[in-house]
Amino acid sequence: MIRTKFLVETSDNLCLGVNWVKLIILILKNKMNTNQIVLASRPKGMPQLADFRFENVELPKLKAGELLLKPLCFSVDPYMRGRMNDAKSYIQAFKTDKPIEGSALATVMESKSDLFKSGDIVLGMLPWRESTIISDKGLQKVDATQQPLSYYLSVLGMTGITAYIGLMHICKPLAGETVVVSGAAGAVGIVVGQIAKIQGCRVVGITGSEEKVKLLVEKFGFDEAINYKTTKYVNKAIATICNDGVDIYFDNVGGNISDAVISNLNVQSRIAVCGQIALYNSTDIPVGPRIQPTLLTKNVMMQGFTVGNYKSEFPEAIEHLTQWVHEGRIDFTESIISGFDQLPTAFIGLFNGENIGKMIVKV
Ligand code: NDP
Repeated sequence: MIRTKFLVETSDNLCLGVNWVKLIILILKNKMNTNQIVLASRPKGMPQLADFRFENVELPKLKAGELLLKPLCFSVDPYMRGRMNDAKSYIQAFKTDKPIEGSALATVMESKSDLFKSGDIVLGMLPWRESTIISDKGLQKVDATQQPLSYYLSVLGMTGITAYIGLMHICKPLAGETVVVSGAAGAVGIVVGQIAKIQGCRVVGITGSEEKVKLLVEKFGFDEAINYKTTKYVNKAIATICNDGVDIYFDNVGGNISDAVISNLNVQSRIAVCGQIALYNSTDIPVGPRIQPTLLTKNVMMQGFTVGNYKSEFPEAIEHLTQWVHEGRIDFTESIISGFDQLPTAFIGLFNGENIGKMIVKV
């Protein structure tokens, strides 16, 4: 049974009587409306709230092979900033005046699909809408009894898998090696550091506040952490803390922080280029030191990766991550913000370091 939510504007408008007519028409047609958030304009530099627009739209009728979903929570992720540019990349750009989309968990309210029934919880890429009608393709049913639901968006979801694949398959850590992680207190970084500890490595995190430094060391078992916002010479701080050099660099941020780490690399070190958040809002072409001589003379392996290209490794990653979470060897935290209307604010917050662990918006 469709729970009908009617388009109701302000009470002032209703007093005019115009919307009562609309309302009666909607009731007669059994039409359903929803709120959505569209990309109003492509951000120039740091995204602003004005780049997003709230709308109320009518949902189409449910057809065969489709589901009516009510999102429970959305993941907001730094890569979405790239999709706001009108540029070719590994993933399609968002269209202006169309809803933003992101990874989300949702309840099936009504189903015309053989794959899912009403009451199921599904994971998928969903438009930023309070209710949505969507094809049953590309959705995954999740078991809400096994673990906190939000873990499907975080430690046992895309960001946890990214941490596992970047570290285990690209950097291939050995016990006793020194691993440096930037963006260390974020969704990916927290997991990278803990997996590296499980592998017997020494782990140094780079992050943006004293609170995060403390958490990394005291809660998540990092050996050391550096606050890049209060450290004048990050390269010297790394040289002091890692006096035997850096064997593995898990790069979540790029920019000056990565330049500082790269100047401390050991021979035969490995770099996984996972993210470049320090550059996502750049309006100029970023420039930095030429790193090729270091890569050459120190035989450094540097590899960029996007997790979607490693689907065949997902089952292995999920198996290990699930085991470590259940054994209590990987701990996790999430920054959960409540309210559908908070999606743009939460997204922008990623670029101000407002999250610890995974940034999630509960709808
Ligand atoms: P986070 O949870 O780490 O959130 C972003 C964090 O980045 C902020 O909290 C902030 O922490 C830090 N940050 C923001 N701006 C800057 C800046 N200018 N310089 C340095 N640090 C900054 O995000 P995720 O863990 O989800 O993602 C981490 C990185 O990995 C991102 O770059 C993302 O794009 C990438 N990624 C790549 C994937 C892949 O397949 N390759 C998959 C998933 C993520 P702080 O307080 O420390 O500044």
